[in-house]
Amino acid sequence: MSDCCSLKGSSGAPGVAMCPVNGARSKQVDMLTVKSLVRQLPLGMPHTQYYFCEAQDCDVVYFALDPQAPVFRRADLLVRVGVKETADPIPVCYCFGFTRGDIHDEIAETGRSMIAERITAEVKAGNCACEVKNPSGKCCLGSVTRETQACLRHLQIAEAKVAE
Ligand SMILES: [Zn+2]
Repeated sequence: MSDCCSLKGSSGAPGVAMCPVNGARSKQVDMLTVKSLVRQLPLGMPHTQYYFCEAQDCDVVYFALDPQAPVFRRADLLVRVGVKETADPIPVCYCFGFTRGDIHDEIAETGRSMIAERITAEVKAGNCACEVKNPSGKCCLGSVTRETQACLRHLQIAEAKVAE
């Protein structure tokens, strides 16, 4: 795996913090990720640890422990945050632009999806840039795999119903 897919420890800030709006446990996100994906940074951004709220029903994307530090919401970001979207296109892989729909289409057409394998090959070749493209700052492969499995399960359930 390339550097962008490894977890980095940082500062002395807690690894997990509660979102100030919905209280969801949120993991640390690198300042580079915040700066890369927020459309317009306010002047005088504090150097503090930010966290990524991945709760689907919460509008907050990035917040800091420091209540004075600006909070960034969905509309402040340059990209759609896949985990918070319910309508297409729902991005899953930000480096290579794969959406949930791409995975579903491939499975509908061929019965399986090779998207995770394709991304793995790109990651091995050092071509991913998750830390500046994925709102979580982390590698998307876990989400792609989860999405693929969820879609395969749905298909199996649908086929079982047709066979009944
Ligand atoms: Zn939240």
